[in-house]
Amino acid sequence: MRKKIIAGNWKMNKTVGEATAFLEELKPLVAELTGADIVICPAYTALYAVNQMLAGTNIGLGAQEAFWKASGAYTSQISLPMLADVGVTCVILGHSETRGRFGVPEPDLTPDLLRTFGETDAGVNIKVQATLAAGLTPIVCVGETLSERQRGETDDIVRVQVLGALAGVGAHQVAEHVVFAYEPVWAIGTGEVCAPDEADRVCGVVRHTVESAYGADAAALVRIQYGGSMKADNAAELLSRPNIDGGLIGGASLKAKDFAAVVAAAG
Ligand code: PEP
Repeated sequence: MRKKIIAGNWKMNKTVGEATAFLEELKPLVAELTGADIVICPAYTALYAVNQMLAGTNIGLGAQEAFWKASGAYTSQISLPMLADVGVTCVILGHSETRGRFGVPEPDLTPDLLRTFGETDAGVNIKVQATLAAGLTPIVCVGETLSERQRGETDDIVRVQVLGALAGVGAHQVAEHVVFAYEPVWAIGTGEVCAPDEADRVCGVVRHTVESAYGADAAALVRIQYGGSMKADNAAELLSRPNIDGGLIGGASLKAKDFAAVVAAAG
């Protein structure tokens, strides 16, 4: 039985003051909810303060990215030991807003895609390995762009991203310590949610890909979230599907009542 995991990705939002106000409101709303692991992923600048506020609650702390080296001359980067030091237990990796999509045809290079930071499957993989070595949980995002979907490439893209992220990772670690998030790029921040049956089908592709490389036990245990415009009014249906073990929530994680409603939908 896989416990659901609902993670809020605040992206580049909320000052420390705003994060504090959010948590004051959220904590009582979710205090009695036991159907899912709950995680908040603030911006780096709020991690320390948010961690202080989460002490004694049922809410965990995540980060939105990490660098794979432990320390050194890497201006601007934040290491996994630094994140662990401020209470972080899981890290989002390979989010579409950090992945490079520079191999895509010219018409697809919209401002939204050009804002990316050039993350690659190899980069995600080295960060997954470093995250596991640091004792933290990677939340590995995979998913196709709209044009990839229109060309019928969704399943291949997802398979390549899943296997690329996991190279060199052992079956036990995949089963127990890795979370995937299937996030169709065209559904992120657009309000256009993937149909529940299709989201479930592609989460199943993620699971079968894990099975092909790591066996049935790992596939049965690995948790796979859906992300992409999940919110209060569609969460229950998405979360009822057999292959969807939770949600990675962007916009709807910015208001405490909205986020609490998604958590409540997990059961
Ligand atoms: C995300 O950024 O991971 C995400 C799913 O965003 P949204 O919920 O806003 O689509």
